[in-house]
Amino acid sequence: MNIACIAHDKKKDDLVQFMTAYKPVLESHSLFATGTTGTKIIEATDLSVHRFRSGPLGGDQQIGAMIAENKMDLVFFFRDPLTAQPHEPDINALIRLCDVYSIPLATNMASAEILIAGLSRGDLEWRGLVKGKGRPEFNEN
Ligand code: PGA
Repeated sequence: MNIACIAHDKKKDDLVQFMTAYKPVLESHSLFATGTTGTKIIEATDLSVHRFRSGPLGGDQQIGAMIAENKMDLVFFFRDPLTAQPHEPDINALIRLCDVYSIPLATNMASAEILIAGLSRGDLEWRGLVKGKGRPEFNEN
């Protein structure tokens, strides 16, 4: 599975803790992250992570593009709901695309725990059937 990891600054420690705890599950998947989040995950866990640009510099949009191309299977996005973000439109766009394409999205630790339990149990295997394929319900133009 292709898994995206993003955390706002005040939530980065939470995400790193989460990634550390679930390293045995995550290391068999392809991990993607926004720039600073990715660096912190790599430093703490030694997991292999493809780093996009930092979120405010376009990283959220790069992950959004993968979602639009049906290449992302799961998104962990630890948002900070108490701090204004300069790239709020990009954040909303990413969340919106997850909803447009029915991509599982966890925006906090509690939801992430549920999703990773499902991931390790094989609940997301259906993604393998649809990944990278066009979706007949959408106009592909
Ligand atoms: P960052 O971006 O990982 O580069 O900090 C995350 C974000 O703020 O969207």
